[in-house]
Amino acid sequence: MNRMFSPSTDPGPAAMALPAPVRACVPLAGHAPRVSCGQAVTKGQLVAEALEPGLGDAHAPVAGKVDLVDKWNVCVVAQGEARAEPVDLAALEGGTLRAVLRSLGVDIAPLAVINTLVINGLNSEPGVTSAELLLRDFAPTLQAGLDLARRVMGASVCVLALRQGVAASLAGCDTRSVPAVYPQTLDPLVIKAVTGKENPEGVAALSVHELFCLGQVAETGLPCDRTVLTVGERNFLVVVGTPVSEVLAAAGLDARDGDRVVLDGLFRGFTARSLGQGVDKGVYGLSVVPAGAHAPVTDAPCMECGKCVRICPSRVDPGLLSGCAEFGLLKQAVDNYIDACMECGLCAYVCPTHRPVLQYIRLAKQQLREVAESV
Ligand code: SF4
Ligand code: SF4
Repeated sequence: MNRMFSPSTDPGPAAMALPAPVRACVPLAGHAPRVSCGQAVTKGQLVAEALEPGLGDAHAPVAGKVDLVDKWNVCVVAQGEARAEPVDLAALEGGTLRAVLRSLGVDIAPLAVINTLVINGLNSEPGVTSAELLLRDFAPTLQAGLDLARRVMGASVCVLALRQGVAASLAGCDTRSVPAVYPQTLDPLVIKAVTGKENPEGVAALSVHELFCLGQVAETGLPCDRTVLTVGERNFLVVVGTPVSEVLAAAGLDARDGDRVVLDGLFRGFTARSLGQGVDKGVYGLSVVPAGAHAPVTDAPCMECGKCVRICPSRVDPGLLSGCAEFGLLKQAVDNYIDACMECGLCAYVCPTHRPVLQYIRLAKQQLREVAESV
């Protein structure tokens, strides 16, 4: 087995809970700010509305005063304990419940009405152990999230997919062991392992991180304000908006000039814009890639070696799709099944010319979303 593709397994000791930040910076990707500098906000107050229909709104994770609003963040200097009024979700259902969850920051796009819900309990990428830690140490919150998810999605069957050897359970779910070799840990392939079918109708997957967010909302009636992420050998319980620099310091890591700080895992993650960037609610990992550890990414032309085609689990042509993105050929990208790409990142990993293949594909997908929304 290639160790590079073998996900980490031992989540180690309990997650270290970091204190709420003195200044929380809420990331604004896909959101429009709804507060201004100098404004006082309560913990849980709306600070930015989502621009995409399935995305949840963004909220202040601490009470205090807004001291920066730009296109990247809303930053709040913590002051006091004032808290937004919790919402009673018990009596809500259907479209009303979905709308309220969205207003509480839940990304509702994955909460489709289906028959079978697969909970993906695997660590999604090598080097990340936060999913198994959540299963081990936060089961009541996951259970609250699952119960709420089933109310919204109407799923009559639920399966908890686990790596072989992991003993975890959620009430109302059967358990199933599935292969834990990357990229088999990603939702579409976990669904295939559980059902034996590719993209079966009426089946959807949620990760334990999505359940954790939903569970916090179910337990408090307030927006999700914490995430668990893996940094090095440990996991940390972090308040949303905590600057990346504070998480790295708690983990004893340092980022120097030329290093790359990556949020989520090394195959699918995003480079942090700055060390002051706040951690968002879905982030599950944080790494520092030292300068010179990898060959630099280049815009070199695709030399059609076919390596990416052979490794792609979606059976699309990543070299072709990245070229479509590079030259703005969006219709050709659609005709060549860009939607089937599950964003595993293997194409970029194997590309001998170091093209940013996945990043090109993500760019084209984003442009297609913008075109669809403008119609
Ligand atoms: S990221 Fe690349 S290898 Fe992975 S599914 Fe998409 S096109 Fe295929
Ligand atoms: S691996 Fe890189 S160079 Fe080879 S076909 Fe794919 S994109 Fe082109």
